[in-house]
Amino acid sequence: MNLAITIDGGAGAGKSVLAQTIAKRLSLFYLNTGAFYRIITLFIIKNQKKPQDISLKDLDISVKNTKNGVFKIYLNGSDVSDKLYTPEIDNTVSEIAIIEKIRGIAHHLQRAAVKNISFIAEGRDTGTVIFPEAGLKIYLDAMPEIRAKRRYLQYKEKKIEKTFDEVLSNIKKRDMIDSTRVRDPLKIPEGAILFDNSYLSIAEEVEILLPIILSYKETM
Ligand code: C5P
Repeated sequence: MNLAITIDGGAGAGKSVLAQTIAKRLSLFYLNTGAFYRIITLFIIKNQKKPQDISLKDLDISVKNTKNGVFKIYLNGSDVSDKLYTPEIDNTVSEIAIIEKIRGIAHHLQRAAVKNISFIAEGRDTGTVIFPEAGLKIYLDAMPEIRAKRRYLQYKEKKIEKTFDEVLSNIKKRDMIDSTRVRDPLKIPEGAILFDNSYLSIAEEVEILLPIILSYKETM
């Protein structure tokens, strides 16, 4: 049987780093579901399209995990993974991700990407909507100021100029849009493990969660 693990949670909750770490430890495919909304946003900006006019056949999107477990996503065969985390996309993506048609397209591509393989997926509706049948669901949370600090440091590393207050207000705005949207709002999946990592390092978090994940693996 294939393993299916999901991690839901808001912006900057640390979903990606946790999912990547677990994926490596257990040799699972790592699926970053936010990257699909980001790549569609990039496509829309680049081609000056209206989101409502986009259909599945316009998008040639593929994904892979590198040998090091890094998630890569391709548009028309070219790797755009590093072009998706700009302030321009950050500021637009949530508006695009609320559009029903876009969500349908993204869900189709996300499910197809892990068909018949063991995976860990992270994103705001992985346990609730994309993979409701997943065997293990985690909901990650942390205080908004702590999530903003993590994002702020990521930007700094990438030499993207943003003040802490700008990052914090973007996180709060995205939380609001994501949790109040009509379609697939951010919420705790039924049966999920609730985990607040505000005061934990990634190593401490993994130390706590890994035994739970391994015991799920043993049931498979
Ligand atoms: O996770 P990330 O910040 O890359 O996601 C970008 C945006 O895509 C989110 O702010 C959210 O609006 C949308 N998203 C979503 N459902 C997911 C993953 C991301 O609506 N499963």
